[in-house]
Amino acid sequence: SEPIHIVGGGLAGSEAAWQIVQRGVPVVLHEMRGIKPTNAHHTSDFAELVCSNSFRSDDWQFNAVGLLHEEMRRGGSLILACADKHQVPAGGALAVDRDGFSAAVTEILSNHPLITVVREEVTTLADKPWDNVIVATGPLTSESLSQFVLDVSGEGQLSFFDAIAPIIHYDSIDMSKAWKQSRYDKEGPGGDAAAYINCPMDKDQYEAFIDALLAGPKAEFKDWEHVPYFDGCLPIEVMAERGRETLRYGPMKPVGLTNPHNPTVKAHAIIQLRQDNALGTLYNMVGFQTKLKHGAQADVFRMIPGLENAQFARLGGLHRNTFIQSPKLLDRQLRLKALFPDKSVRFAGQLTGVEGYVESAAIGLLAGRFAAAQALGTSLPAPPESTALGALINHITIGHLEGGSFQPMNINYGLLPPLDPPKVDEHGKKIPLKERGRAKKRLMSLRALNDVQEWLNLA
Ligand code: FAD
Repeated sequence: SEPIHIVGGGLAGSEAAWQIVQRGVPVVLHEMRGIKPTNAHHTSDFAELVCSNSFRSDDWQFNAVGLLHEEMRRGGSLILACADKHQVPAGGALAVDRDGFSAAVTEILSNHPLITVVREEVTTLADKPWDNVIVATGPLTSESLSQFVLDVSGEGQLSFFDAIAPIIHYDSIDMSKAWKQSRYDKEGPGGDAAAYINCPMDKDQYEAFIDALLAGPKAEFKDWEHVPYFDGCLPIEVMAERGRETLRYGPMKPVGLTNPHNPTVKAHAIIQLRQDNALGTLYNMVGFQTKLKHGAQADVFRMIPGLENAQFARLGGLHRNTFIQSPKLLDRQLRLKALFPDKSVRFAGQLTGVEGYVESAAIGLLAGRFAAAQALGTSLPAPPESTALGALINHITIGHLEGGSFQPMNINYGLLPPLDPPKVDEHGKKIPLKERGRAKKRLMSLRALNDVQEWLNLA
């Protein structure tokens, strides 16, 4: 059959290529490194790890990325197989010898009889006769190809930075202190008049919070990563530096809201959290994009009443990143709707709005299987939403709440439909909250591994 063209031999492109050739379909893999470097890569090997050498937790029972590893292993992932083979000791994490890992991926793909490697920068798809393509050019997609993507997807549909406010698991918010209400009871995203959760502060709490914000260690920008501050996405610590009251007139303004736990006392400041996913399991801190170092963020944000025990699905950040507004642009097959059905241009990897090495490779696995099914004249549905793979594709296609802002995300249990573990044990004794949390993760992982197998058997 006609080859599938893959642009970008990173984490996603490498995995996609492997999945496709496993199904007997040839691949042409176009990679610009070797001809043209990026600002972060150092070699011309496939699947180079640009920063950390860790694929994070390998614990499938209690950790969502560990679960994703396990699903991918069962799906015959090349990235996981090479990571396992080149593992270095790292406690419960899967960390790799980065050179050995990338060399292994490169050798396997370069020597595969169904794969042709072309070292070139693909600057556009407009002049290419290819009708089954996967674009997996990553957060550092070259400028000309970014322009092409922008042209086909439309104004505002391609971002060059992610400005991320922390995202919190709903069930870790203390609703005896916080409450649901939209400012002036106006409708929020999803048409819900109580789409926001509010956390009140008195004056002393506010002053202590500002002190902690100003004192907290900040991450430095790399030169090439220089991020312009857009209106509306100033980091909160930069706002606080402009004046101690600035936040009280910005994202922490205490107006249009009444605390039902304490209706007679007016709050000095209020932090709002907005529902972040359609399942309602995740909430983001509105206006709280930050360059505070990750360790400091948890400490500082847990000073907020109601968030003392907050569990973060994602901490805040501001990075150079290239990603598309996938929920608008892509169908469930990861195809660009604007070009389909004339061409099947799929996107994969970080460009689709997932975050991380493993997540990028996972979307590569999915795009590869979808594209191969199409080349073979069959079709493959998306994996069930109860699996980590399904949860990721849901995040970038349908799981996002309309009206909210779409930002890249790591896999986490908040992206999967929740399960309620029993509140009491077999003797009728109450199970502590922490143990219930662990039981819930394990149950969700077991459900996922059961459900993913059925899907993997389809193709
Ligand atoms: P990549 O792995 O970057 O692969 C894209 C490939 O496409 C590259 O090989 C590139 O050379 C090629 N390419 C680009 N444009 C073209 C073109 N026009 N024609 C042909 N080829 C092209 N994630 C983590 O989990 N841990 C980390 O520590 C981490 N650190 C990061 C540090 C930085 C500086 C950045 C930018 C990202 C980091 N990430 C990290 C996020 C993300 O996981 C990685 O960027 C990951 O490599 C993304 O996988 P990908 O396949 O989407 O893109």
